[in-house]
Amino acid sequence: MSNKLSKTKIVATIGPASCTKPTLKKMIEEGTDVFRINFSHSTQKQFAELAALIKELNTETGRHIAILADLQGPKLRIGEVENNAVVLVPGDTLNIITRKCTGNRTQVYMSYQEFPRDVNAGETLLIDDGKIKLEVLSTNRKDTVKTKVIHGGTLSSHKGVNLPNTHVSLPCLTKEDISNVLFALRHGVDWIALSFVRKADDIIELKNLLKKHKSQAGIIAKIEKPEALKEIDMIIQQSDGIMVARGDLGVEMPFDEVPLIQKQLIEKSIRQSKPVIVATQMMESMITNFSPTRAEAADVANAVLDGADALMLSGETSIGRYPVETVRNMQKIIIHTETFGNLFNKIDVPDEKSHTYLADSVCYHAAELACQIRTRAIITFTHSGYTARHISANRPVSDVFVFTNVDRLMKQLSLMWGVKVFYLKSYENMEQAITESMRILREKKFLRKGERVIHVGSSPLNEHGPTNILKVSVV
Ligand code: PGA
Ligand code: MN
Repeated sequence: MSNKLSKTKIVATIGPASCTKPTLKKMIEEGTDVFRINFSHSTQKQFAELAALIKELNTETGRHIAILADLQGPKLRIGEVENNAVVLVPGDTLNIITRKCTGNRTQVYMSYQEFPRDVNAGETLLIDDGKIKLEVLSTNRKDTVKTKVIHGGTLSSHKGVNLPNTHVSLPCLTKEDISNVLFALRHGVDWIALSFVRKADDIIELKNLLKKHKSQAGIIAKIEKPEALKEIDMIIQQSDGIMVARGDLGVEMPFDEVPLIQKQLIEKSIRQSKPVIVATQMMESMITNFSPTRAEAADVANAVLDGADALMLSGETSIGRYPVETVRNMQKIIIHTETFGNLFNKIDVPDEKSHTYLADSVCYHAAELACQIRTRAIITFTHSGYTARHISANRPVSDVFVFTNVDRLMKQLSLMWGVKVFYLKSYENMEQAITESMRILREKKFLRKGERVIHVGSSPLNEHGPTNILKVSVV
């Protein structure tokens, strides 16, 4: 277990390979900050069980691991297939049908009921992140689409289907998603990821649903459709964070464009002080191998250098042979890469026209000053998460220790770059809060005598106003 804090966080997807308490515990010890429970593969019952396990682990370890519930959205998937493995050979004919069945070499179920009406002959179906390619021969416009296998392979159950040339007429937030959101809210969820976001309105719809149910869960927009890139600034603005969902993005768009899109999305998110997750295939070969390929190590390192808040593991930890080792290896790459100096102080000078100009300037200068006078830490008090999020977005060299008494924030902030959260009961007096924060950090060995720190917050403390205080202290 590593005792050094990494700046870049790890999101690990839970699945059959990792759903037991001892495995989850080890994954936390190796550096997991957020667990993703994917409603594409998990039932509500499983969600409830995992949420309860994570709650127990947080209590036992004193950590604040967040739960990210990932909604399937209008993701197209095939149904179950025989023995979880059907071999498709190029030239074979395969019927995609909308009546439930167990798939085999001649027919496979797809849940998208409108598919036979939306699709046209000549269009392409890509299955399992584009590994299998089918061409549509004909459709009966009712329940059966006849296809030809172009690139074959082994098909397993519930794999995703992408239709790069078909206009898909499904809503972003499906009935099933809404039921899953409401369930997740009842069982404790910190972040909700919306798949296949196409426009800012998709986010607003989910936001309204959360508001109606008095939830403050954060919304992550998964960027995996070309349509989303067209109004990306608005989408980032409406969301609480985004995910560069490279799996589907690289199928829906030419894969050669994905690396630059990743860099642009990270830059745009940092500029709006919103967390950004880089996802999919980061350590893919570790699904079966004990160590990553050199290319994967480079991919992880490059995402760190790009400035991502968090890196995500999917199949590696949900169905892979080495969930714990994958987290350990990813953490190792992150920690080593973060010794490179050019990672820090990324943000531009705050925009004078912004209505948060003063607060943003305090955060910006805290990060600048921390670098200049080499402080051990920037310590913030936060009630809404604003100060913590904006300090983090400046990517300061020193650690960011955040104190709050809001339980939800303690977990949500686990996703954000460089942030470590501590509980602090509510204080009315700023001086008392500063003294107490330093006492806690010294007791927990995060601070030593003689080290410099900067406190950032809002005074008076109990008014929860905009960030307006910056204080330098020597421990
Ligand atoms: P998924 O999202 O794993 O839910 O498909 C991530 C991606 O598409 O990259
Ligand atoms: Mn996806």
